Amino acid sequence: METTLIEIKQEKAGFEGFVGSWLCRGPIHLLIDVGPINTSRSLITSLDAMGIEEIEYILLTHIHIDHAGALAPLLDRFPMAQVVSHQKGLNHLADPSKLWAGSQKVLGDLAVMYGRPEPVDPRRLIPHTESVIPGLEIIETPGHAPHHLSFSYGGRLFSGEAAGNYLMVNGKEYLRPATPPRFFFQVFVESVNRLMALQDQTICYAHFGQASSSRHLLERFKEQLFRWKEIIWKEYQKGEQDLLLRCLEILLERDPELGSFQYMSPECQARERTFIMNAVKGFVGFFKENNL
Ligand SMILES: [Zn+2]
Repeated sequence: METTLIEIKQEKAGFEGFVGSWLCRGPIHLLIDVGPINTSRSLITSLDAMGIEEIEYILLTHIHIDHAGALAPLLDRFPMAQVVSHQKGLNHLADPSKLWAGSQKVLGDLAVMYGRPEPVDPRRLIPHTESVIPGLEIIETPGHAPHHLSFSYGGRLFSGEAAGNYLMVNGKEYLRPATPPRFFFQVFVESVNRLMALQDQTICYAHFGQASSSRHLLERFKEQLFRWKEIIWKEYQKGEQDLLLRCLEILLERDPELGSFQYMSPECQARERTFIMNAVKGFVGFFKENNL
């Protein structure tokens, strides 16, 4: 089986090499995540250029608009395709109005860049509990989103954002949690444990790229989650003044997994600052919700 990461270029500077779709070409064609609706043309053009005439299944790691937004135009282009999604996400795909409202609130300008998803014909949607794709293992990995799924297929683990974001910067690794509010620490860690219990395989990240050993990367990611918890907890106890900014600076200074931040372009650094602070917000919300 051949697996390809198709980059879906976004117009905003700093979003190069960040949004993509994984294509598996074997006995059947699978597409994992489809990116935002505003760049659906770009994905369809790439698939056409690769000579892809049919997609049997589109798998969604989660329904956030930068992963599932382009679903309606993709289903128009590939009329035989069916979608496998977490059953909790199905209603939002058929009627994305609440999802869109929520996305605007959380993402602001980014939501406008990604675009408002169009409704999808519910008859094309398969709940993850009922999928019967040969060789596909579906793992429930709530955390980044309550409806998050990971997929193991053809010796590869498609972890969406359950194992964080993993990028190469100037040939150096960069690993960052994606833990926006509402964030439940234990739920997230249990999902990582579930992925670690699988056989060691290549791990394929939604944002953005792959690494050869899922176990090794998941181990590092789990350590990172505990490291962030400790650092953010200490800052949280000092008070709320500039809490997010303080955490951002200390994490960039002390977390070795973020070391290659320094080699990023200023635009990529701006993007990462936003996402790091959003992830910190998740931790802070978790402490508050649990009266810690
Ligand atoms: Zn995402």
